[in-house]
Amino acid sequence: EEKKEDPKDQEFKLEKDTELRFEVETGGTITLELSEGMAEVFGTELVKNKKFTFGSGAKVAVFTWHGCKVVLHGRTEFAYVSKDTPMVMYVNTHAALEQMRQQAQDQGKRGPRVMIVGPTDVGKSTLCRLLLNYAVRLGRRPTFVDLDVGQGSIAIPGTIGGILVERPADVEEGFSLQAPLIYHFGHASPGANMELYERIIAKCADVFNQRCELNRQASVSGCIINTCGWVKGEGYRSILHAAREFEVDVIIVLDQERLYNDLKRDLPGFVKVVLQPKSGGVVERPQPVRRSAREDRVREYFYGVRQPLYPHSFDVKFADVSLYQVGAPALPDSCLPLDTQQENPYTKLVHIQPGAQIVHHVLSLSMADSLKDNLIDTNIAGFICVTNVDMERQVMTVLSPAPRPLPKRYMLLTDIRFMDFR
Ligand code: ADP
Repeated sequence: EEKKEDPKDQEFKLEKDTELRFEVETGGTITLELSEGMAEVFGTELVKNKKFTFGSGAKVAVFTWHGCKVVLHGRTEFAYVSKDTPMVMYVNTHAALEQMRQQAQDQGKRGPRVMIVGPTDVGKSTLCRLLLNYAVRLGRRPTFVDLDVGQGSIAIPGTIGGILVERPADVEEGFSLQAPLIYHFGHASPGANMELYERIIAKCADVFNQRCELNRQASVSGCIINTCGWVKGEGYRSILHAAREFEVDVIIVLDQERLYNDLKRDLPGFVKVVLQPKSGGVVERPQPVRRSAREDRVREYFYGVRQPLYPHSFDVKFADVSLYQVGAPALPDSCLPLDTQQENPYTKLVHIQPGAQIVHHVLSLSMADSLKDNLIDTNIAGFICVTNVDMERQVMTVLSPAPRPLPKRYMLLTDIRFMDFR
């Protein structure tokens, strides 16, 4: 195999209001160091002379309000400086939200609930991170809600969830994910079960409302909601549904005028809908890249990002767990006795006998103590992955971030698969 030469350090001098955009070469890493001035990565300030490391395929922008010098070490797919960024517009949005928080505080009301919508790859997640970072840097405690089941940034793909943000995102690892609120969906696309998707969104909104009642600072700080890039048909209806459930005050539409017009038409007048451009730096990710990003997310859950985690592998007796799946095909009405009301097939819990069909699947561990807590509406403690099923011994071998025993007995099957190649 040909050995590549060690790349030279690249130094960049950035003028004020410009950003350095780079992508890490596949299989490589890049270290970034700020040598002069001040700069930030998606709203988190860089510490001068500290080395930040980014992994394979990471796409990063280093923005400066006043000018700076940065050094990149390692191989990049590309690295260039752009003067053309929507950052001033985004910071103005932040300022407007901050004014709403101030008003909420003064008047004893609740702060802005903001939803960010748009097609895939327009920088929705990035804008969420930016607005959350700016809010928390001013001492606010905003809640980040992620409804994007395709990326599942709060837990793993196939889930939605929320976290109270108490400090800026770590430059390398993102937001601290302590004490997240997670709901099981089980699929990487909302279309797989719209009823379930809408139900868990409603539940998540409920719990957020309860938290706001108990925590004045969380209430005043409001929330920033990330959504998935499915903006047509049922996807569009799910945006309207989420807006209603969370009682959003502001919707930021990135880069799609039609969606903006539709939302203005379909939402009540008190919801402020604003259209903003996407950043030219946002890189489109073709389907395979998106799929591998999903796998990476699951791998990170088990193996860690910067600090390696060492997941545990152990056997679980079938007798010690109860596995369910949400959703079952409906019976034709003609098969039912007259007068029976069919349970909604999409949100029906179906008991599953463990078998070869669950190998490599991720399972959500429910916090439920008994089936009296509806498993759909109960939050998730964590995830395991089934690596083997032994029918003879009636045990399955699982990969788990925590040692045995499992916290509770109820589990939900997901469509999300993970193959452990280590
Ligand atoms: P969406 O949530 O709309 O799918 P993301 O916010 O995840 O889009 O952005 C897609 C990718 O583009 C991410 O990898 C992100 O790090 C990268 N990105 C966002 N803004 C910039 C920028 N200004 N320069 C370079 N890369 C960026």
